[in-house]
Amino acid sequence: MSDLPGIRPQPGIMEIALYQGGAAHIAGRDSVVKLSSNENPYGPSDKAREAAVRATHQMHRYPVTDHLGLRTAIAEVHGIDPDRVICGAGSDEVLQFATQCFAGPGDEVIMTQHGFSMYPILTLAAGATPVVVAEQARRVDPDAVLAAVTPRTRIVFLTNPGNPTGTMLEADQLRHLAEGLPAHVLLVHDGAYAEFADDGFRADLDLVEAFPNVLATRTFSKIYGLGGLRIGWGYASPDLIGVMNRVRQPFNLSTVQLAAAEAAMRDRAHVERCRSENAKWRDWLTAALRDLGLGCDDSRANFVLARFPDQATAHACDDALKEDGLIVRRVGGYGLPEALRITIGDEAACRRVAHVIGRFMAERN
Ligand code: PMP
Repeated sequence: MSDLPGIRPQPGIMEIALYQGGAAHIAGRDSVVKLSSNENPYGPSDKAREAAVRATHQMHRYPVTDHLGLRTAIAEVHGIDPDRVICGAGSDEVLQFATQCFAGPGDEVIMTQHGFSMYPILTLAAGATPVVVAEQARRVDPDAVLAAVTPRTRIVFLTNPGNPTGTMLEADQLRHLAEGLPAHVLLVHDGAYAEFADDGFRADLDLVEAFPNVLATRTFSKIYGLGGLRIGWGYASPDLIGVMNRVRQPFNLSTVQLAAAEAAMRDRAHVERCRSENAKWRDWLTAALRDLGLGCDDSRANFVLARFPDQATAHACDDALKEDGLIVRRVGGYGLPEALRITIGDEAACRRVAHVIGRFMAERN
């Protein structure tokens, strides 16, 4: 701010640590296997690609503002009411609507120890105060979350399945959490990885239907393979949706985004194939890592967390993976310095990552 001494950022802004994204390149290498951002190795549905290309013919026109086509597709597939759906540029934008609308200076926003790194950023950007609740062995403890609630709490963010832990609260634990929250607290169930958890997982949507103070968010970036296009959605009571629509820019999603997402949502065969391939190779990689003597919790997402004896070993293994052209994610920023988060790639990627980690562990012993 030295060039513009009269310009002052709002309180909280300068406390924000810049978002650290997953690396996409390794210096000196033309090709890499990127397993650092939980992307879908199979890409989007062909129908989504075709719809996106067709939609480019309309690029001289403004997009629709009400997203009715996409909201209807989402609602039909999930058996929910389209009037309770809001769409954003990634679920990040939906999380931003919620924070901007429901938290401000003097308010507290609860997140858990290994929760998603956007929550403190959004909280500080709204001028509110992040309150971090400890997890128990990489699992969210609903009672610890409830114990942290004060009269100033406005939002509780829950990543479920957790990123980067992969662990999950089940329907009964979610209900217990929602029942214990006072009416003035919004529970945001961030289900970015929900589609990987179970065939037809909908405990988050059921929670919205049972409690007026719950927002469920989902994304097209993970199982739908559309991370580059930026589309997400939220499901909540009509009143909450009505509030958030006030801050949503009228043209927040482009014609191309809307067309691709609608086609992707309707191609259930592609989603099923991605879900079952992910489950198969996730279980395979989990077993392989355990056989190598590493810690690895059961994951319900499209990544696993490999735990090494200490940070130095984790980093040395990360370096060995990079030497081999494999990019995984260090998660020290999430309070897990001894671990590496590995996205479940296709069969070849999973076998290669297990092979390189196996070689690294053998050389180390
Ligand atoms: N929530 C969680 C837990 C995530 O891991 C991510 C993506 N890294 C997001 C939300 C945001 O995803 P997007 O904005 O691409 O929908």
